[in-house]
Amino acid sequence: MSDVGPLEIMSIGGWLKKLIDSQAAPPEGDWEATQAKIEQLCKGISTRELPGPIKSKLTLPFGKPAHIRIAQDPLEFEELLAPERDACCPVCGTTTEGGMRVPASLEIKLVEGNSYLQSIWVHEACLKGCTETNEQRAVPS
Ligand SMILES: [Zn+2]
Repeated sequence: MSDVGPLEIMSIGGWLKKLIDSQAAPPEGDWEATQAKIEQLCKGISTRELPGPIKSKLTLPFGKPAHIRIAQDPLEFEELLAPERDACCPVCGTTTEGGMRVPASLEIKLVEGNSYLQSIWVHEACLKGCTETNEQRAVPS
């Protein structure tokens, strides 16, 4: 695993292990093309403000969050990144299992200034209730 290089950053979003362990891992040399595709897919998706404090009891392993926002994930992420997603809706705090849900990322900014993405499910209606900002969503890298 030590020769993976830039991919290691993705462990922050919980994606790295899944990506490396799964068949979804791009073949050697295809990483740049995959990253370009991911960037393209994220274009035009806005970051949204949560209406209040995060309601799910996620373990946030990288320190105290200063600010958490949310953005819908392109459906293609399931294939490209195969992220593990927490099923608890961060907006209302109930499970999204069996409900109308969409894949999304929490954009977590830490007090120390670093940021990372956490893959989650969110109810479609709950996401719509989050105010859109005019900032583009963060791109996983
Ligand atoms: Zn919800």
